[in-house]
Amino acid sequence: MTMPVSDPQFITYMAAFRAATEHTATCGPCQDGRPCPVGDPIHRAFLTEKDVWEGKQK
Ligand SMILES: [Zn+2]
Repeated sequence: MTMPVSDPQFITYMAAFRAATEHTATCGPCQDGRPCPVGDPIHRAFLTEKDVWEGKQK
C-alpha cells in the first residue's frame, strides 16, 4: 500500500491519530475507554478525521 503522504487530508488524519495516541499513552482513563475531559475532544477530532478520510476513499 502506498501512503498518500502528499494528501493534506491524510496528513490531518495522521496528526489527529498521533495526538490521540500520544494522549492515550499517558492517560489512564482514556486507556480504559473512558475519555477524560482533556482527551475527549482529541479522540472526537480523530474520529471525525477518520470518517472524513475513509469517506474520501469510497
Ligand atoms: Zn485522557
